[in-house]
Amino acid sequence: MSSSKTILDGRVVSQHIRESLVPRIEALRKRGCVPCLSTILVGNDPASETYVRMKGNACRRLGMESQRIDLPNDTNTAGLLDVIDRLNADPNVHGILLQHPVPAHIDERLAFDTIALEKDVDGVTSLGFGRTAFDLPCYRSCTPEAILSIIDYYELPIEGKHAVVIGRSPILGKPVAMLLLNRNATVTICHSRTQNLPDFVKQADILVAAVGKPNFVKGAWLKPGAVVLDAGYNEGNVGDCDYASCLPVASAITPVPGGVGPVTIATLLKHTVEAAEKAAQ
Ligand code: NAP
Repeated sequence: MSSSKTILDGRVVSQHIRESLVPRIEALRKRGCVPCLSTILVGNDPASETYVRMKGNACRRLGMESQRIDLPNDTNTAGLLDVIDRLNADPNVHGILLQHPVPAHIDERLAFDTIALEKDVDGVTSLGFGRTAFDLPCYRSCTPEAILSIIDYYELPIEGKHAVVIGRSPILGKPVAMLLLNRNATVTICHSRTQNLPDFVKQADILVAAVGKPNFVKGAWLKPGAVVLDAGYNEGNVGDCDYASCLPVASAITPVPGGVGPVTIATLLKHTVEAAEKAAQ
């Protein structure tokens, strides 16, 4: 068991990112540009409502603008694409966030891929994923980038480490695996068909949990001294890792809440400011 323990405090990392944005937003304002994030919410899923509200509030607290577009549940794909096209063409909108998930009758992938790459501040387009995999410039998917930002803030090594990612979703598991691979980790991606999952987890120097199942990863599965990044956010503010049993075994671990979540939002703000800076050039 490791003697020193680091709680990877996402609120501290988030604050650090936000503070770095203040002078940049001020400089933009002096040039007559207010960074603006446009969020689209289709339907009335209460969790999505909360996420969209949190993102809007975070923008306003930093003096950025947030524009919210609420569309009815029966919006069809063509209707949603029209809205995205309009935002793509609007010079006052710098970032577009389409809240996932959209109602099942909508072609979500097509909707994501309609977002202009330069406004894809949430990193959801196929092109953005490809560029992420190739380590080319684009806005990374926010939660994966947040995970890397936490690791970097605490100066934890990645190169040569065995990183195990549980989950392979397009917005989280797959892109975070690419980011870790591009930083020279040896990466294993596990998913619902993986057999003997705890055996893989036992090999992880760095474990990323992106499963969506409360308290799923047990401390007994971990290699002593592992670095644990818990991206999970389940009902009741519970992560994907069983914090109580993982804490004694890990050398460093993100809590839930107060871990990956706040850094994800700060990353979204950072991307929107970057997009505004590019637009103002
Ligand atoms: P998702 O799309 O539901 O993907 C979950 C992944 O977990 C899938 O790849 C699935 O495998 C895998 N999985 C499910 N059951 C498993 C099992 N028993 N063993 C191994 N793998 C299993 O979820 P997501 O959107 O990636 O989100 C994951 C978690 O992160 C959720 O708790 C979500 O709330 C949270 N999240 C947090 C933030 C944040 O800002 N902190 C942002 C986004 C998401 P298959 O592919 O085989 O189905």
